[in-house]
Amino acid sequence: MPSNTRRYRYTVLFPACFLVAAGLIFSCTPSERIFSGRGVKVFAHDRNVRVLLFKTKEGVTISSHDKIKVSEEKGRFKFISAGKRVMIRPESVVRPLYIESWNEPLQVNDAQYRGTISLHNIAGSLYVINSLKLNEYLYGVVPVEMPADWPLEAVKAQAIAARTYALYHIMKQKNMLFDLDATTSSQVYKGMDVEKAASNRAVDETRSLVMLFENEPIVSFFHSTCGGKTVDDRFVWQGSDLPYLKSVRCGYCSASPNYSWDYTLNVFEIKRALNRRYPEIRTVDTISLKKNQGRVSNVVVRHSHGMANMSGNDFRLLISPEKIKSLAFDVEKRGRSLNISGRGWGHGVGLCQWGARGMAESGKSFKEILLHYYRNVSIKSIDGDTRHFPTIARRVADSLHSSSGVMIHD
Ligand SMILES: [Zn+2]
Repeated sequence: MPSNTRRYRYTVLFPACFLVAAGLIFSCTPSERIFSGRGVKVFAHDRNVRVLLFKTKEGVTISSHDKIKVSEEKGRFKFISAGKRVMIRPESVVRPLYIESWNEPLQVNDAQYRGTISLHNIAGSLYVINSLKLNEYLYGVVPVEMPADWPLEAVKAQAIAARTYALYHIMKQKNMLFDLDATTSSQVYKGMDVEKAASNRAVDETRSLVMLFENEPIVSFFHSTCGGKTVDDRFVWQGSDLPYLKSVRCGYCSASPNYSWDYTLNVFEIKRALNRRYPEIRTVDTISLKKNQGRVSNVVVRHSHGMANMSGNDFRLLISPEKIKSLAFDVEKRGRSLNISGRGWGHGVGLCQWGARGMAESGKSFKEILLHYYRNVSIKSIDGDTRHFPTIARRVADSLHSSSGVMIHD
């Protein structure tokens, strides 16, 4: 812990005379200009997104190069001088805390973030949530999800896919504490430290564009490499069957290092992997696969004590998701080993990122790329006349009104 770090005990530090002033600040109207109704401008790209950075039972260190204001939900607040580092532990957060810096980013542990931070103590764990403008959030997403030095049209396609995915979750999760988390379970976000000029440009030049299906943002899944053909979502996730996530031929991702791959495992490795769920397996006799659109949906393992039937994805996770990089694979038993060969990396649904790169290199625009991988969608600006998309306008307005994010004051 650095020498200037001190434990933060806000309960004894808030002077009572600040209560009234802080109460006034928190009753302000949000600065975002988002309205609903016919013919009214909607500036949805300017909407705040709330990202769960992480949860911790240990506490979090906060600092900034400028003065920091820490406000408690019921109105009390204090200031921390520029350059000071404070440690905030879960037990000291009785009510949510909102943290903002005047003109500099906030440093949270070892990473810098735009926007504001809120801390919530949920059952002894500190939820660290970053609230910031949608496009500022994308600055910290796009270069992590796709190399910023790839062709600009591919990076623009990625920016629109990431923006659409975020907007979908903002609308869907409007009553929760946060809209997205910062990991692969949403999309990876790493704050300011990863920002690149080229990916920021791709975000800025597409600043309000999203993909819509029937006036709603789509769930714009993307993956690294399809290996030649993408797959319907219904063959990957049970219960999902979206009209715009349909299998399409790719033909643009052969430059990917994961376009094709193979591994050989010996019988002992296979048995040990399968025993984690099927301890009764002593020897593996045969492995047979059932496929849909070239992807393994079911695996049947005949073994010394009977038969084990599992989904392709369970088999992949049991053996190794690093070795079996996608469900587009085949197995071949060769004596005492098993050869697993396959194509692509990732779930195979929606945008193929290496395919986007290939399409951009062959002169295609971001629109052509997106309309190739997502079927029956339209690419529209979410700024403008709401008569074109009344549903989105209403729901963006609804989600704003229920936001628990902190506001930035000049
Ligand atoms: Zn592909």
